[in-house]
Amino acid sequence: AKQLGRNHYKMFYETMNQEVVERLALESELRTALEQKQFILHYQPQVELATGRVRGLEALVRWRHTQRGLLMPDQFISVAEDADLIAPLGVQVLEMACRQIRLWMERGLPVERVAVNLSAHQLWEDDLAETVTEIMEKHGCPPQRLELEVTESVIMSSVEKGREALAKLHRLGVEVSIDDFGTGYSSLYYLKKLPFSVLKIDKSFVDDLPGDADSVNIVASIATLAHGMGKQVVVEGVETLPQLESVASCGCEIVQGFYFSRPLPPEEIERILSCDRRP
Ligand code: C2E
Ligand code: CA
Ligand code: CA
Ligand code: CA
Repeated sequence: AKQLGRNHYKMFYETMNQEVVERLALESELRTALEQKQFILHYQPQVELATGRVRGLEALVRWRHTQRGLLMPDQFISVAEDADLIAPLGVQVLEMACRQIRLWMERGLPVERVAVNLSAHQLWEDDLAETVTEIMEKHGCPPQRLELEVTESVIMSSVEKGREALAKLHRLGVEVSIDDFGTGYSSLYYLKKLPFSVLKIDKSFVDDLPGDADSVNIVASIATLAHGMGKQVVVEGVETLPQLESVASCGCEIVQGFYFSRPLPPEEIERILSCDRRP
């Protein structure tokens, strides 16, 4: 048994080592990727159920890696965070989103707003508001077209600081949304004090719809709560018709999920939006 234990330890150690090596490689590749601008954004529609209109798009970053193909955020965001590269990556993401917003406006495409994810590191930067302002001005992006998503857990990790950071963004005229709502340990009292306009219900609740009564109750309660506070509700991760019907009956009015569309490159979004154009 001892022998086996040692072997297991050795295997574990080698796996660990492998991971460390892999991470270091990824880290240095990330630096190159930032220099060479290998990142792109895909956009996922958020559909207003009452009208079928695309109410907005969430921008989701992808890495066009020269050897490994298209990498998803869970393959590199945490590495970027640990390597202190999330700030420059965040700037590139904001730049791409603002440039795209402006481009779509010029082409007369009905893009009301684009939501961009902020990492914890970005939210806690003292000069975030200045950075966002500079980038919007540089690309001629009107603030009301930009929405910034911050996760509930990041805000609640330091409520007072979080409130101040959101207030600064709010004053710029950008929309602020609280992402992954329901997964953290929200105090409803604090929620009331936070300046934001959109609450995003996390996919984990939707996964159990429509079968799980607790999830149905939670989603319906969050929707009621948010509407009672005058906030919009976006529900993410809706994949099936039964889930769609369930979130609709829970009172959710805006839906984002594979049922309507996966995140798509800008050209494909343009195709969808051209059909969606109002007379
Ligand atoms: P998130 O902000 O919660 O974004 C939603 C994620 O759920 C996206 O994954 C999206 O593709 C996925 N999703 C949407 N609808 C469905 C569905 O119906 N079914 C399933 N299975 N998945 C769905 P993605 O693009 O892989 O992004 C993962 C996470 O990476 C995001 O979660 C966000 O936390 C982070 N992320 C993405 N882009 C950025 C970025 O530009 N900056 C930062 N800091 N984080 C980002
Ligand atoms: Ca998000
Ligand atoms: Ca989310
Ligand atoms: Ca999520």
